[in-house]
Amino acid sequence: MVYDHVVFALGAVSNYLGMQNVQELAFDFKSLLDAIRIRNHVIEMFERADRETDPEMRREMLSFVIAGGGFAGVELAGALNDFSRGILADYPNLSPADVQVVVVHSREHILPELSESLGRYAQESMALRGVTFRLNCRLTDCRAGCVVLSDGEVRARTLVWTAGTAPNPLLKTLGIETDRRGAVVVESTMSVAGHPDVWALGDCAALKDGKTGAACPPTAQFALREARTLARNIRASVRGHALQPFHFDSLGALCVVGHHTACAELTVPFARQKSMRFRGLLAWLLWRGIYLGKLPGLERKIRVLTDWVIELFFPRDIVQTIDLR
Ligand SMILES: Cc1cc2nc3c(=O)[nH]c(=O)nc-3n(C[C@H](O)[C@H](O)[C@H](O)COP(=O)(O)OP(=O)(O)OC[C@H]3O[C@@H](n4cnc5c(N)ncnc54)[C@H](O)[C@@H]3O)c2cc1C
Repeated sequence: MVYDHVVFALGAVSNYLGMQNVQELAFDFKSLLDAIRIRNHVIEMFERADRETDPEMRREMLSFVIAGGGFAGVELAGALNDFSRGILADYPNLSPADVQVVVVHSREHILPELSESLGRYAQESMALRGVTFRLNCRLTDCRAGCVVLSDGEVRARTLVWTAGTAPNPLLKTLGIETDRRGAVVVESTMSVAGHPDVWALGDCAALKDGKTGAACPPTAQFALREARTLARNIRASVRGHALQPFHFDSLGALCVVGHHTACAELTVPFARQKSMRFRGLLAWLLWRGIYLGKLPGLERKIRVLTDWVIELFFPRDIVQTIDLR
């Protein structure tokens, strides 16, 4: 196809670090469809476990292992733990002791993106609600019904991989420069060096901040701002004007850890080196408020808010959602 300007915004994919069995058996956690599939599978496991008479098999069905203790893994573990324990009331043959949510993380503390005190808070509050942490430990392999770790094995029918991502592998086939991870190397204006009509942004670009020189993290917070600068730069390029380097100071990070609690580290405006830390219910309310504000359109905001309110007062919905596979 002939083009005037082409923009690569292909995002990232899961990187299984060469573990073939994990790639075949683990659930991905990158998209809404992945989340729907995991939810459907969890409900399926509860349905089967409720009819199972062998206690070991029952526990295997209700053991959910999450590889990775970063934002995605921790938020998933918190939500999955709440969901699993919340739906137990619908399954009279199952007890809380049958349910196991395990987070496998290769470091000493979870949430390395946040300060250590918040990571510790998240870990302690999740552990109190029954989440198990296997720290300083790596997932090395898996087979049907068993997850193999560097320090032992866990019998489990569910493994979710959040421990590694890589830029979309398609980028390496395009004949443009990519870095060690496979991200497109771009100037601070987001154009590819030597190709003024080729651009890349978001998770698939190796972009350095034009003011600080720091690498831009693969988050939506940055990708959205990069998109605006890139659009302006294409317009400037068409009109023969100077291009603007990308610059953005992170607003901070929020992570929900389940049961109406979260931790948040927000950058203080006009004092970018300083941050404010919140945790517990206040951080959770902040998280909900910010994400509600970001949803596009009033109708969608009302739908989501209604759903959140219903969830506060009624038991968990255990209807499986349609999977358009
Ligand atoms: C579970 C999870 C939670 C997250 N939470 C947060 C958060 O709270 N805050 C935050 O800032 N960031 C968060 N992120 C990160 C954020 O989602 C990404 O940084 C952001 O989506 C990157 O935007 P992108 O446009 O580069 O890529 P994407 O949003 O991944 O978009 C890439 C698009 O390209 C499409 N595509 C892929 N291949 C092709 C192809 N060959 N042809 C055409 N289209 C193709 C894909 O289908 C996709 O729609 C989260 C990520 C995950 C996985």
